[in-house]
Amino acid sequence: MELDSAFVYSIPMRTRFRGITEREGVLLSGPAGWGEFCPFLDYSDAECAPWLACAVEAVAEGWPAPVRDRIPVNCTVPVVSPERAHEIVAASGCATAKVKVADPGSRLSDDLERVAAVRDALGPSGAIRVDANAAWEVGEAVAAIRELERAAGGLEYVEQPCRTIEELAAVRRRVDVRIAADESIRRADDPLRVAVAGAADVAVIKVAPLGGVRRALQVAEASGLPCVISSAVETSVGLAAGIALAAALPELDFACGLGTLPLLTGDVATDSLRPVDGHLPVPPVAPVPDLRAGVAADAATTARWLDRLARVAALG
Ligand SMILES: [Mg+2]
Repeated sequence: MELDSAFVYSIPMRTRFRGITEREGVLLSGPAGWGEFCPFLDYSDAECAPWLACAVEAVAEGWPAPVRDRIPVNCTVPVVSPERAHEIVAASGCATAKVKVADPGSRLSDDLERVAAVRDALGPSGAIRVDANAAWEVGEAVAAIRELERAAGGLEYVEQPCRTIEELAAVRRRVDVRIAADESIRRADDPLRVAVAGAADVAVIKVAPLGGVRRALQVAEASGLPCVISSAVETSVGLAAGIALAAALPELDFACGLGTLPLLTGDVATDSLRPVDGHLPVPPVAPVPDLRAGVAADAATTARWLDRLARVAALG
């Protein structure tokens, strides 16, 4: 891995997401191509180690052969007005929408109006999934899911309604809607405990927190659950690794959460991995970053990321 090729980017988000307004990370290059290291800022160095392993796989080894040449993706609806939600979905060309709900400080009534607007934009044949990011207690989740399902005219699944695996299992026993586990898999010591506990019907798999395409494929297979591959809102370089994972999965039953580039105001490459007609192409390697994209971080941000990269590399 060429650490001296490291390029630190900083790109404003279109809408606040996970409490951040600016997406930052490091791009690395090597014999197999480009990789991206962009763990969120609240992650410890130890939690960042798999993210680096994912980037190293991309630059040193490349990815397993794909079994499909395009990936269906969902559009993402953040906490916005019903009118804006309608616009986002209508403009996306996607048949599946993922709607953020239960944001801190938000009201269920706003979530209900937002999912209803999304259904109006998608039409009856579209699929709506909601993501609560572990915000609810069990009783709250059961009540909210029933109301959301009614307002949405049916839900494909509810992602991470509660924090713990035991709570997910309790909610799953009390509602008819499928439950998807995301945070429970991403930050768990043992991602497979989710399936064993009967806590979920769907596994949301992210390539970087699991340490790369090969390792994530093992987790996906061992989970025994249908998988949805999601991004961590990377640039096109990091998204390519997630697409490689989705492309290599033996079965792909649901649209993936990899069409997230529109959440950023820019990209590091000019041949961006943006969805067209609700699908992403499967590129053989990550797009090559273009310094003319104008997304280089300032000196202080660059120094902070190179320091973080060196600390995490030293753990290896
Ligand atoms: Mg999620």
